[in-house]
Amino acid sequence: MKYRQEIPKIPRSVARTFTALLFAILFLVLTPSSADIGLIPGEGDPVAGSGIARIASNVFDMLTEPFSSNPEAHGLDEDLFAVADGSFTAGSPLENLRGILEKKPYIIEHIVEPGDTIWSIMKAYNVDEATIVNANNLANSSKLKVGQKLTFPSVTGLTHTVKKGDTISDIAKTYQVSAQIIEEANELSQSSKIFAGQVLVVPGGKMPRVAKSTGSSSGSSKSATIGIGMVHPVNGGTRVTSYYGTRNGRMHNGIDFGVSTGTDVKAAASGVVTTSGWLGNYGKLVVIDHGQGVKTYYGHNSKLLVSVGDRVAQGQVIANSGNTGRSTGPHLHFEVRVNNKAQNPLNYIKK
Ligand SMILES: [Zn+2]
Repeated sequence: MKYRQEIPKIPRSVARTFTALLFAILFLVLTPSSADIGLIPGEGDPVAGSGIARIASNVFDMLTEPFSSNPEAHGLDEDLFAVADGSFTAGSPLENLRGILEKKPYIIEHIVEPGDTIWSIMKAYNVDEATIVNANNLANSSKLKVGQKLTFPSVTGLTHTVKKGDTISDIAKTYQVSAQIIEEANELSQSSKIFAGQVLVVPGGKMPRVAKSTGSSSGSSKSATIGIGMVHPVNGGTRVTSYYGTRNGRMHNGIDFGVSTGTDVKAAASGVVTTSGWLGNYGKLVVIDHGQGVKTYYGHNSKLLVSVGDRVAQGQVIANSGNTGRSTGPHLHFEVRVNNKAQNPLNYIKK
């Protein structure tokens, strides 16, 4: 593992306490509305919240433990109490601490436990999927392995291990951020030198586009045929209840196929599952990344049959259709996106 705990200049105990507080806040905020974001366990939903619940309970242990043992041992009593009784207010010392810490990102290490998915981990630490995936080279991975160590920055972005000859401005250019952002995040002054092996946090950094190589192992090798090669996600002769395009003055990003609840929903092409859970209006949603910026969305399902990180084959059954989310009757909402822009799915499905 490349990354080590050398970024923070914050005392580890403070960082740990702060992380615990963030979890606690997250837990308090999420609990009443967890249905909206798919963290409710059970019902066959693979995004079940066991991981979250466990993390949250660990956090509460971490929060309450200092009081039972030695209430004066840390400098954060006010804040901890405030959070514990839910009356934390803006402008408190905690907010100030948050401000300080936000400028000094640190490296999180997470050991994968049973039930963890990339999705649950990203929610738990409040970073985005790409941050975890890129920092751990997971793009082509299948499932996370229990005991696997994931290391990623505490902010959305990525880490860069300095190589001989790197300059801040080179690094900034590579990841499309300003040099100043890197300097601030890592407390570098203009005069300070970076050294080979140093791990820098690059908040907001984007992975550079890698030159297309042959033999890529993900679904991306399918890309040449994807434009014409997607299979129908439900069955070919299915009734279209709403086409892609403007509908009553509003854009409909996908196509709706009227199918009865429980109908098999199939992966239109091979790829890696990046979302499998409840997402707002989509209800129970599966998103598959086919590589090369191509993703497909399958919304309103009744049952999800895959997990984040799963590699799926074209035509594999990934869900059972349904009527979840913002939906007026059982149907599949199917989207094709290229670089996150919705496309007309009918241009992609084999006739
Ligand atoms: Zn739709």
